[in-house]
Amino acid sequence: MYDYLIVGAGLYGAVFAHEAKKAGKSVLVIDKRPNIAGNVYTEKVEGINVHKYGAHIFHTNNKKVWNYITQFAEFNRFTNSPVANYHGELYSLPFNMYTFNKMWGVVTPEEAADKIEEQRKAAGITEPKNLEEQAISLVGTDIYEKLIKGYTEKQWGRPCTELPSFIIKRLPVRLTFDNNYFNALYQGIPVGGYTKMVANLLDGIEVRLNEDYLEKKAEYDAMAEKVIYTGAIDAYFDYKLGTLEYRSVRFENETLDKPNFQGNAAVNYTDVETPWTRIIEHKWFEFGKDEEGNDLPKTVISREYSSEWKPGDEPYYPVNDEKNGQLYAQYKELAEKEPKVIFGGRLGEYKYYDMDAVIASALDMCEKQLA
Ligand SMILES: Cc1cc2nc3c(=O)[nH]c(=O)nc-3n(C[C@H](O)[C@H](O)[C@H](O)COP(=O)(O)OP(=O)(O)OC[C@H]3O[C@@H](n4cnc5c(N)ncnc54)[C@H](O)[C@@H]3O)c2cc1C
Repeated sequence: MYDYLIVGAGLYGAVFAHEAKKAGKSVLVIDKRPNIAGNVYTEKVEGINVHKYGAHIFHTNNKKVWNYITQFAEFNRFTNSPVANYHGELYSLPFNMYTFNKMWGVVTPEEAADKIEEQRKAAGITEPKNLEEQAISLVGTDIYEKLIKGYTEKQWGRPCTELPSFIIKRLPVRLTFDNNYFNALYQGIPVGGYTKMVANLLDGIEVRLNEDYLEKKAEYDAMAEKVIYTGAIDAYFDYKLGTLEYRSVRFENETLDKPNFQGNAAVNYTDVETPWTRIIEHKWFEFGKDEEGNDLPKTVISREYSSEWKPGDEPYYPVNDEKNGQLYAQYKELAEKEPKVIFGGRLGEYKYYDMDAVIASALDMCEKQLA
């Protein structure tokens, strides 16, 4: 008999398991995948840590979370500075003075602000009726046409004129020379990969892989006083109220016989003709932009395609619309009636959590449970 059965060896499950063990509880962790680390799993290919379920950049303003997670990994100085490729023209992201200089030749922040204002005025949109009008009314026509339109249409699979304006309430425009995508105090990638970081969290804890809790639920329930469940909440209830929807991404990985493909971790393809939304070159998460990475003769890239999600596909981003929100609320009511099961994490709470938020949420739960 264990004090806690933890379903899911992702970040939520691993943090809870670590803290429970530290508090003297007996813990068993199971995961239906063949590996630990959930969606932050990194796999070594040609000496490079490949982010198998999508590129993950750790960034946070939460000092408590940063102090906590850096006990389990050293973080490098990676700063997310994506590049936009529009038909071979390269622009800095997020929109900043480098972007405006390349777009219009403007040199000072004042000139850039005037140019944006001039284009907004010329468009004459007072009440935006769709995403296209909203974007133009915020940043003008040139940035919209070259850097927003194609990318957004590929992401959503629909023309911007058919997308609601509320999707982009505001667009960050920086009148400084700053290519750092995140406004976070702490940022980086764990040296050695996320899998090693999660393995450190799970050090000394019994973990069983390739075990689906829902297939042997009664057996597993009988083994523990309490269950921390980080799988999908609708799956737990056998989808009896319906299926919660997700947005999906498809990754096409390729190992190339060259040391450097694009010179940056992320390049967004912002034209509509290129079918992928972006290309990730994994080695640049680890080695920074210095020469070191060139010691490796090969490189691994992932092309990302937005794809429609259907039941059975890998669930990525919860869809935060009214329909799914209401369905989740009904499942949550059922979950609250489960006597010994606690639902947590991005699938258990049907919530888009960044890594820092999921760690904070697991630590909160530990305080409630283990005090
Ligand atoms: C494409 C993508 C990119 C992202 N990029 C970033 C980023 O750059 N920065 C950032 O901060 N965050 C990012 N995130 C968010 C990050 O992935 C999550 O915050 C984090 O992985 C959530 O951890 P979790 O433990 O809740 O869930 P998960 O990692 O999904 O772990 C849940 C685990 O439960 C297991 N499981 C489910 N059902 C069962 C079952 N029945 N039996 C046994 N095991 C089961 C699963 O196999 C899985 O291993 C990204 C997310 C996505 C989708």
